[in-house]
Amino acid sequence: MPVVVGVLTETAARETRVAVVPEIAVKLRALGVRVLIEHGAGALAHFPDALYVDVEFSDAATILSSADILLKVRPPSLAEVAALKKGTVLLGFMQAYANPELVRAMRDRGITSFAMELVPRISRAQSMDALSSQASVAGYKAALIAANSLERFLPMLTTAAGTIRPAQVLVIGAGVAGLQAIATVKRLGAVVEAYDVRGATRDQVKSLGAKFVETGVSAEGSGGYARELTAEEKLKQQEVLDARIAASDAVISTASVPGRAAPRIVSKAAVQRMKAGSVIVDIAAEQGGNCELTQAGETIVQNGVKIIGPLNLPASLPYHASEMYARNLFNLLKPALLKGELAIDWNDEVFAGSVLTHDGQIKHEATRKAVEG
Ligand code: NAD
Repeated sequence: MPVVVGVLTETAARETRVAVVPEIAVKLRALGVRVLIEHGAGALAHFPDALYVDVEFSDAATILSSADILLKVRPPSLAEVAALKKGTVLLGFMQAYANPELVRAMRDRGITSFAMELVPRISRAQSMDALSSQASVAGYKAALIAANSLERFLPMLTTAAGTIRPAQVLVIGAGVAGLQAIATVKRLGAVVEAYDVRGATRDQVKSLGAKFVETGVSAEGSGGYARELTAEEKLKQQEVLDARIAASDAVISTASVPGRAAPRIVSKAAVQRMKAGSVIVDIAAEQGGNCELTQAGETIVQNGVKIIGPLNLPASLPYHASEMYARNLFNLLKPALLKGELAIDWNDEVFAGSVLTHDGQIKHEATRKAVEG
């Protein structure tokens, strides 16, 4: 019996992405598996059913009860987990820290779940790195939101009506999203500066033609991530950054520390020093925001400064976000399906590192401690 790969319509609010796009369905079929897709699963991402070739369409209940492998973007609901066969392999973003009940349900149902956010960020796994592909979409879109919300030009213009000065943009946090935001506003002609606590980003920022803001604070954590700053470091950072924030027409903030609330970097006092008509796009809104005034999912105006806290930016570009995500999933899954059968190599650090639950146990140590104590 060939392995059945199931794909559902995402049901989370405002989710538009789909886990498998037509190009990837073809690649999965070429591995000898059956592909079962829920009617209309790709519709919101502009992949209508007619574009999926050589797959079977079905309803959610049939897919849940027959899938050997279920591919998702967002975490499944408890009802979906309850409807899966014991031993089903499930791949998707799991947000385990926010979903202890879901982790327990997957453990108790004997689901083998892999969390895309846990895929190790090693060179070999770059093509499977969904955190990066989706962050890249978010950074691009944040730059466009900033450009569109500013009631002035971004580039310098020399016109018959005189010269227009370019906009000044500050990007806080130069990880994957921040670097994409820098590249995008730069292409639109803004003068860009950027800041990150990881010194390793200095050259990356400069290579994109932006200026690196020096604060004298360096906070490299483990695994290439940042660590939380001490109170003293925060103060030092704030002194330099507040002046740069005040001088900016747009601030795009992307700073994040794994497993923690987003660092607070833009204070209410700093916003008060900004010019009316300036804009802050805070893509850390979902983790509490980098700006003290950010309200997740809202745009607020304070002293004429717009503070935008967008949620789920990748879902606002679902066509390409889905395409990239589906490729990440396929690249992760392919080694386990090479012989047309499902065979996970538990010695492979990618599978071993991203497994959340398997065989009735929570395999990811930090999640196990958080969920089971
Ligand atoms: P992230 O989303 O965790 O954080 C975004 C950025 O915010 C980071 O660059 C971080 O240093 C920065 N930040 C944290 N606290 C800050 C503060 N107080 N002030 C200013 N900036 C702050 O990061 P990410 O985009 O997921 O990338 C994290 C790391 O992973 C990077 O080193 C990146 O190069 C690495 N990475 C490796 C691979 C790979 O090798 N496969 C793939 C992607 C990313």
